[in-house]
Amino acid sequence: MSAAEFDLIARIRARVGTRDDVVLGIGDDAALLQPPAGMQLAVATDTLNGGVHFFEDAAPADIGWKSLAVNLSDLAAMGALPAWATLSLSLPAQPGDAMQAFVDGFLDGFVQLAAQHRVALVGGDTTRGPLSVCVTAMGFVQAGAALRRDAARVGDEVWITGTPGDAAAALALAGVAPYRDAEVRRCVGDPLTDHARLFERLQRPTPRVAAGRALGSLAHACIDVSDGLLADLGHVCAASKVGARIDAAALPVSPALAAACEGEARWSLQLGGGDDYELCFTAAPSRRDAIASALRAVDTPACVIGRIEAEPGVRVWRADGSPWTPPRRGYQHFG
Ligand code: ADP
Ligand code: MG
Repeated sequence: MSAAEFDLIARIRARVGTRDDVVLGIGDDAALLQPPAGMQLAVATDTLNGGVHFFEDAAPADIGWKSLAVNLSDLAAMGALPAWATLSLSLPAQPGDAMQAFVDGFLDGFVQLAAQHRVALVGGDTTRGPLSVCVTAMGFVQAGAALRRDAARVGDEVWITGTPGDAAAALALAGVAPYRDAEVRRCVGDPLTDHARLFERLQRPTPRVAAGRALGSLAHACIDVSDGLLADLGHVCAASKVGARIDAAALPVSPALAAACEGEARWSLQLGGGDDYELCFTAAPSRRDAIASALRAVDTPACVIGRIEAEPGVRVWRADGSPWTPPRRGYQHFG
């Protein structure tokens, strides 16, 4: 380990929280962690590469936030309670103070979100290379109680939290292929300020952790929307050996998205865009009121957008009952 690497690890170690169940954190060859008795460990990992998953010139704090957020979102989709994380950083060679500034900024965002969820950073790796961040998040779920993709049942209602499509609209406004082909209304000035709310949703997604936990005993199947609602609901349907219909007119829309985009162009971003990190879940219609009040209690908006059906595949319907064919079913990231 070089002196520069040692310095960076020391900076990271100085800023991360700890918990009673971390027997040994950063500093040894491996962390020692004590999961609670009777709980299953949920483990998720996601890599974010510069120029692929975030803009090369993105604010380091936003990269730090998002790298943890996308992993907490995966835990949320399982109904798990986050506890621990590891962080592997690959940083391009640059002067030591530039590297320190990047790591400090990165930690601003990472630590802010980690503190909100009482997540302790317990280890990782620091190497030289193209800018890349890999986070692994670990959490607890009651044995047998996880929300899995393969549990949707015919007759279930399909729900979505929040308002999908905001992040995809930001990517369209930023001119990122293939989103830039979407019909979005640009405001007069700088899209970053005129459409600040959309860019905030792209750069600082909210992992729906409390919602996922509240749904544990109420929902059947669940997935977090990272690659587009149709694509991700398609994964649920394939795993559950069912199909689904979506009522496009029922899609919830944020004021910011409504201002930038309307009609079928909007549906296209909401159903085919990615990076929403909302939860799409299925549940029996008899659970509708219980779900609405459980989610209200954790301040998470959600609504029903469709149904699980026996026929495989995901179909989209207009308000007049005619089928709508989306131009694309999901984005393979960008670049
Ligand atoms: P080793 O060579 O034994 O793998 P390292 O030098 O890579 O050890 O790391 C030393 C300690 O610092 C380990 O406990 C490791 O988990 C931790 N660590 C290294 N990089 C990071 C990082 N980016 N974030 C958190 N902990 C880190
Ligand atoms: Mg190592």
